[in-house]
Amino acid sequence: MRVPFYRHSLPASSATLVAEVIESGFLTSGQRCSRVEEQLCAIFGTSHAKLTSSWTQGAVAVLLALGIGPGDEVIVPAMTFVATANVVKQVGARPVFVDVEPSTLLIDIALVKAAVTPRTRAVIPVHLYGQMVDIPTLRQALRPEIRIIEDAAHCFEGTRNGRRPGQDSDAAIFSFYATKNVTCGEGGAVVTNDGELAANLKETVLHGMSAAAAQRFSGGRYQHWDVARLGTKANLPDLLAVLLEAQLDTVDERLARREALAQRYEDSLAGTPLGVPTIEPGVVSARHLFPIHVPGGQRDWVMRTLNDQGIGATVNYRSVTELSLYRNDPAVQRHDFPVSLDWGEGTLCLPLFPTLTEEEQDYVLNVLRYEVIPSLTSHAIEERGVAAL
Ligand SMILES: *Cc1c(COP(=O)(O)O)cnc(C)c1O
Repeated sequence: MRVPFYRHSLPASSATLVAEVIESGFLTSGQRCSRVEEQLCAIFGTSHAKLTSSWTQGAVAVLLALGIGPGDEVIVPAMTFVATANVVKQVGARPVFVDVEPSTLLIDIALVKAAVTPRTRAVIPVHLYGQMVDIPTLRQALRPEIRIIEDAAHCFEGTRNGRRPGQDSDAAIFSFYATKNVTCGEGGAVVTNDGELAANLKETVLHGMSAAAAQRFSGGRYQHWDVARLGTKANLPDLLAVLLEAQLDTVDERLARREALAQRYEDSLAGTPLGVPTIEPGVVSARHLFPIHVPGGQRDWVMRTLNDQGIGATVNYRSVTELSLYRNDPAVQRHDFPVSLDWGEGTLCLPLFPTLTEEEQDYVLNVLRYEVIPSLTSHAIEERGVAAL
């Protein structure tokens, strides 16, 4: 059997929606985007939403809109996808890494507090694997002028104590990349309650231009535009935005399926040496990924075994501080990130998506049960313990 890492749920009828945009004659960001942006405001309870071409471009546009750049520091967790740190570098600021908590793998708020300097302009907490960071607690740990930009790439559906991304921070950014819970192939969105940030963002997603394509011919006459601040090119075209509308109406159904599958994995792996992150009380996880931790440096062997059996397991993630670009930075000391380092050397993600069948999941579980677990050494079992179920 082959079990892919991910299978999208876009219906074949999506092609009709794209055809409608082509026939309309207007291909870039227009009314179809506006409609989805209204949906996003309703879902997240925010006053502003902006669709972007990716999480990455959305984040660059947000940092530019906040005037964050050379001389500034932005605190990011070491355990995340590399984009979280790259965007800080791209605007000329310095990413300052902090370690994560061992049980949740979420940014350690005490360490964030200790990493703040007079140059700190923002923190980018990451809702890793779908579990939200406690944003109100993070807020209390920071000077009020330090911005909180949520990396909600894994957390479209997640909540903590009933609060959603974007409600208690300066902005939250989503990804609609091909394998994310909500997808249009490539895309993203920013939600915020900050009117000034939203107004600046409208410009920084479009080169810094004061008028978007849809406005430049408003009233049938060409309007001049100005550029007062540097922007990037981050807008999403209507061609892709149409793929999102129906998905946003049905996120809850797909989340229920993800949750059921994730619990099935958890129940089956309980009491084995394979560790999983703890989901804290009050949290509804978006269950974006299902990561496990393999003890005793045996992850790569387990990965190979799964891949050889046709199972699309991947690594999300090795500590960003281990990647050459950052490891060779004299400011980055690997011993400062023991939790991210250990998790990153032992973790792998199992297939998890709404159309995964129980038969496919049983196949994955049986490979783990009969080929992987019996071969893990007892020495490795002793070493883990802490984060094991
Ligand atoms: C996918 C991802 C991103 C980047 O998203 P893109 O839309 O591909 O730019 C950023 N952060 C995290 C945690 C991600 O998983």
